[in-house]
Amino acid sequence: MNKGKLYIVSGPSGSGKDTVVGLVMQKLGDESRISVSMTTRQPRGQEKEGVDYFYVSEESFLNNVEQGNMLEYARYGRYYYGTPKAPVEKWLEEGKVVFLVIEVNGGENIKKYFPDAEKIFILPPSLGVLEQRLRGRGTEDDDAVSRRMTIAREEIKRAVEYDYIIVNDLLDDAVNSVISIVEAQKLRTANMKNKISEVLENA
Ligand code: 5GP
Repeated sequence: MNKGKLYIVSGPSGSGKDTVVGLVMQKLGDESRISVSMTTRQPRGQEKEGVDYFYVSEESFLNNVEQGNMLEYARYGRYYYGTPKAPVEKWLEEGKVVFLVIEVNGGENIKKYFPDAEKIFILPPSLGVLEQRLRGRGTEDDDAVSRRMTIAREEIKRAVEYDYIIVNDLLDDAVNSVISIVEAQKLRTANMKNKISEVLENA
């Protein structure tokens, strides 16, 4: 059995990356898993503990970092965000397609441990659309939106560090593009060696 495959998905807040990955996972079904991050920020809107994030205090977060429980972590705005190590390692061992939806510094750090990870950047069609989407959420005040727009510009400059760029203009197209990437990886020669032997051995 092949080991699993890790996909890092990044994009500015409001790019729709969580929605895209959610729909990709619905299509892939049980072969896929998504990492639930730990954060020191408060739940927003309808978010749920253990589903969207594990919400912890700064002290508890830094304790987890110190104990080596995190694959990566980063400070984003005023808060910490990080990927718990154990579930990701287990899923990769089980051969799952694993998604980490994380910001660009975390994406860079992960690649050091998992050089085979594929990095996908979700671009908004324009900065104007991005700002509209952030305001449309209605969960953040003007200051928070303009802070996120400043960070967004910096993140978009780093899209060149990624293996794939997907523009999330039409949601269905963005979802299908991610699926194509996942399907193409499965056909890489390294993942098809068993099939070659099988064809040669069975007349
Ligand atoms: P938000 O507050 O909008 O949920 O997340 C802010 C940013 O932190 C987003 O870009 C999100 O993808 C990123 N993020 C979420 N979880 C993690 C994580 O575990 N590690 C890192 N490095 N970034 C994360």
